[in-house]
Amino acid sequence: MIKVKKVITGFIDENCYLVYDSDTKYAAIIDPGQEADKIINAIESESLKPEIVINTHAHYDHISSDDEIRSKYKIPLAIHKDEVEMLADPEKNGSLLFGQYAVVKDPEILLEDNQEVKLSFVTFKVFSSPGHSKGSICLLFGSYLFTGDTLFAGSIGRTDLWGGNSEEIIKSLEKLKKLDPSITVYPGHGSMTTIAKSLNNARY
Ligand SMILES: [Zn+2]
Ligand SMILES: [Zn+2]
Repeated sequence: MIKVKKVITGFIDENCYLVYDSDTKYAAIIDPGQEADKIINAIESESLKPEIVINTHAHYDHISSDDEIRSKYKIPLAIHKDEVEMLADPEKNGSLLFGQYAVVKDPEILLEDNQEVKLSFVTFKVFSSPGHSKGSICLLFGSYLFTGDTLFAGSIGRTDLWGGNSEEIIKSLEKLKKLDPSITVYPGHGSMTTIAKSLNNARY
């Protein structure tokens, strides 16, 4: 059975998610933000076996512990191909703007729209959702959708940072509207919701 554990990291309360199989303990680590120790403690306390790091997008609050998690567990990083240039650029990934400094090594796996990625415990699907940033993606694991900073419970992502585009995010949200309304949404900040609730409540 697929389970989700949320670890809130950093000073802007970013949600890192550990998605794992409760039997085999294999896990995907989505958006390891700041506070690597806190994330590693959560992984260890559930005795998880991480097999991949995935970034919904490359803002510093979502990527800051990528390299620490990758090197500790010797696992690859997957991110949308249009987002790669932000990883090693503290201006583009927003870290300098917030008085931080985040630089991440090149990813091993480049993702694109509609791609299906097979892990040992699940196959997840990639939905390209540009707007908050150029290569923002949502990740569908069964009936769980990880939306990064594209869609929150009651609001949508800002588009005023580097690579943001307010017209694109509207198109991306229209695409998400076509998904099953009962799908559980796990956003990059704040509490979980569903496709139906979040898109009805979000003003845009
Ligand atoms: Zn962001
Ligand atoms: Zn964020």
